[in-house]
Amino acid sequence: MLKYKSRDDKCSGVDSSNRQHKKHFVKETASDFISKSAEKSADKDHRQKINFNIGRYNAVVPGGKQQFDDINLAREKAKNIKWKAIGSLDSQLEKFEAGISKRGAKVIWAETAEQANEEILKICQEKNCKSIVKSKSMVTEEIHLNEFLEQHNIESVETDLGEYIQQLDGEPPYHIVTPAMHKSKEDVAKLFAEKLGTDPTLTPEQLTLVARKTLREKYLQAEVGITGANFIIADIGAIAVTENEGNARLSCAWPQTHIVVTGIEKIIPSLTDLALFWPLLATYGTGQRITVYNTIVTGPKQPGETDGPEDMYVILLDNGRTNILANEKARESLYCIRCGACLNACPVYKNIGGHAYSTPYSGPIGSVITPHLKNMDDWKHLSYASSLCGNCTEVCAVKINLHELLLENRHESVEDGNTGFAERMAWKIWKRAMLHRKFMNVGSTRIKNWVVNKFVKGWKKHRGDIEFPKKSFNQLWREKYGNR
Ligand code: SF4
Repeated sequence: MLKYKSRDDKCSGVDSSNRQHKKHFVKETASDFISKSAEKSADKDHRQKINFNIGRYNAVVPGGKQQFDDINLAREKAKNIKWKAIGSLDSQLEKFEAGISKRGAKVIWAETAEQANEEILKICQEKNCKSIVKSKSMVTEEIHLNEFLEQHNIESVETDLGEYIQQLDGEPPYHIVTPAMHKSKEDVAKLFAEKLGTDPTLTPEQLTLVARKTLREKYLQAEVGITGANFIIADIGAIAVTENEGNARLSCAWPQTHIVVTGIEKIIPSLTDLALFWPLLATYGTGQRITVYNTIVTGPKQPGETDGPEDMYVILLDNGRTNILANEKARESLYCIRCGACLNACPVYKNIGGHAYSTPYSGPIGSVITPHLKNMDDWKHLSYASSLCGNCTEVCAVKINLHELLLENRHESVEDGNTGFAERMAWKIWKRAMLHRKFMNVGSTRIKNWVVNKFVKGWKKHRGDIEFPKKSFNQLWREKYGNR
């Protein structure tokens, strides 16, 4: 059974020296975010590439939406299905486990990233594995699987083209759906020339053929294939994988052993739910009506079947998800189907890019879940990186109230005491002034201008001075209506 952790439990057991360390670390994660954001937002070349790629996405999404009679109803229905699935997560997962185990797959429950990595390593060592082919999976980014395997002399090769480009460049994915979104075709040609010795003037088609040829060799060598799961199907005990290149299907089926690594929130109750979720994910992810390859895997090769892996393992990862489950308000964020639409719509993401977040999940959904998956104190700054325009909520495939959840995170962070003395005092003074008119009228316009422009830290860095009006609202009122 899944264990719920209360917010108090999360705070207990942290000694004071640990807290000191945490306070220090807070400054590092937040200041790292601010400096990376400042650098990227001033980078015109980056902005041009992102605007170009998001522009292409925006141009095709309306076409995908046309397949729905009522797109809002479809989103609402998907939200309700996920609500039902997450509300009964423990029994749904057990149903999945019973179904897929019957056909010979082994299900492993991992509470942490370390446990998941150790289990994968154990399987690889049993199979005497030296080489792995892996399809795109944000969960494996979350647990830093490639780095971990490399430390144990196991080569793990990314087979999704975008991920392969990022791996060649030694960079994490930039976006949860399009990992190399920040690179132009010229950037990729240059990278291939540097790393693979190809002609730097190759076209995208020629580059794809180079990647294809290199990766086909890797499939032949690999003892193990690793994939994620877009959906875990409870009623029939299966996983569903969605992709455009066929590389995930090959990673499932070609090597002798298939390992699936998935977060527990990917659950959907029934096979028939895919009729809604597949087109919804395709439309909001890439503007397609349906993604090119949609595969349902129900277990390893069965007697009498000609292909498929001999062994199949499914790692069900918690890694902080039950913290979100226990939090009544944040729970809704577990409905996410990782379509990436909220990233593409976010004015902050479009300016600072995916790498500024320093987390596998970036953009609005990343800012909502990361403080819960990791810890609020160190990652709360992400919840403040929002204009609260609500565009993320507007475009979310499953209607998650993202901007409200960002506000909830801020609220929770303040409730947990993750604020400095100066901030607490500033808000106390502001509240007092707002509740008592006489405090608002204290001081002349000149003094107010001086105090605000001198003492509000960071305000003037990118803005002009604040100019208070010469006369206060009270004065104007009195002049017009007298003392009534
Ligand atoms: S929060 Fe919504 S829009 Fe963002 S990735 Fe998840 S499903 Fe897509």
